[in-house]
Amino acid sequence: MTVTVDASRCIACGMCAYAAPEVFRIVGRTSTVIAQPEGKAPKVRDAANGCPVNAIRVS
Ligand code: SF4
Repeated sequence: MTVTVDASRCIACGMCAYAAPEVFRIVGRTSTVIAQPEGKAPKVRDAANGCPVNAIRVS
């Protein structure tokens, strides 16, 4: 699984960093992927599905 955040869309709401702090961190005014998740990482999929601006891509 590879996770990316589209910084041009992110509004830094913090939801993803709250849901999966081992993967996402708010740096400045955008969420940053600090580590790729291991395994199926359902929390990361939840974060992607819950992002209000659809900025998180999981592949
Ligand atoms: S949930 Fe989406 S908008 Fe909110 S901080 Fe994460 S990537 Fe940015």
